[in-house]
Amino acid sequence: MTDNEVINNEYTATANLGRVDIPEEAKPYVIELLKLRKEVEQYRQIGTVDECRAAREKQIPKEPIDDKYRHKCCPICGWLVCYDEGWGDKYVPHCENCGQALKWGD
Ligand SMILES: [Zn+2]
Repeated sequence: MTDNEVINNEYTATANLGRVDIPEEAKPYVIELLKLRKEVEQYRQIGTVDECRAAREKQIPKEPIDDKYRHKCCPICGWLVCYDEGWGDKYVPHCENCGQALKWGD
């Protein structure tokens, strides 16, 4: 079933329930609005604009900050992002708490 068929079926079902009485000349516009509504529903499943913007911001690497003990911490949430593993420090590419990408020097 094509998108147009799905939309036409939805339109017909809605019209048959008697909830709408749409003049013939307005039907193409109603079908267009139903298509737009379907698109909006698909975008809402991805996330709101603010959620998408916040996710994109977290992908831009930021330098860690030092806490009062000079531990390297996430600049967003303060989570410890560098661990001493005995043979050297382990630098994580992303904060394990909030997902912020991290920028480390060479
Ligand atoms: Zn974080």
